[in-house]
Amino acid sequence: MLLPSLREQVLEANLELVRRGLVLYTFGNASGISREDGLVVIKPSGVPYEVMKPSHLVVTDLDGRLVEGDLRPSSDLPTHIALYRAFPTIGGVAHTHSEYATAWAQAGQPIPPFGTTHADYFHGPVPVTEAMPDHEIASDYELNTGHAIARVFQKIDYAAIPAVLVANHGPFCWGPDCGTAAHNAVILESVARMAYFTRRINKDAKPLGRGLHDKHYLRKHGNTAYYGQPKDSK
Ligand SMILES: [Zn+2]
Repeated sequence: MLLPSLREQVLEANLELVRRGLVLYTFGNASGISREDGLVVIKPSGVPYEVMKPSHLVVTDLDGRLVEGDLRPSSDLPTHIALYRAFPTIGGVAHTHSEYATAWAQAGQPIPPFGTTHADYFHGPVPVTEAMPDHEIASDYELNTGHAIARVFQKIDYAAIPAVLVANHGPFCWGPDCGTAAHNAVILESVARMAYFTRRINKDAKPLGRGLHDKHYLRKHGNTAYYGQPKDSK
């Protein structure tokens, strides 16, 4: 079996989305990529999580061609592949229809950075894609969804804001590996929920200031990070 450890990680990322209540039935999907091999491991379509095993996962190349697996891959595979192509340093993608993030996506509004929880993970508002024109929906819909996401990030650093809201659909998140992508999806849902309540309590609530946003983001990310333990300490 190809990529046994990546299969384990991708299965675990998919299960994490379920455990955290982000996924109903078989909605949602997570994948991971081996950049070395140019191969993607993704959840199969329609297999219940309770019975899913690493061997059920599907391996494809970066053109979406099946390399190993008896089952059909998640129908969102072309979106995942478009993201792996557009964002060369990511190692995992997670997609859900989690309720609060999806509500912002359906409202067509970016999630404003109202507080430090947001700032710890996202170095700016979580953007929303443009609505897709009918011809992009009629054919290659999932691939075009990926392109719509990539267009949003032409002017935004995808590593600094590892999430997007696809208009009228839901969130896609990513990270250096599939576990981090799933983690970011969990945090995004929490941030989306808090932002919703912030707006409800005060419709004129303002995003946190640049200084506080930078402080929280940069103490966890980048060359000057100091939050937590150094990577090589045990
Ligand atoms: Zn979806």
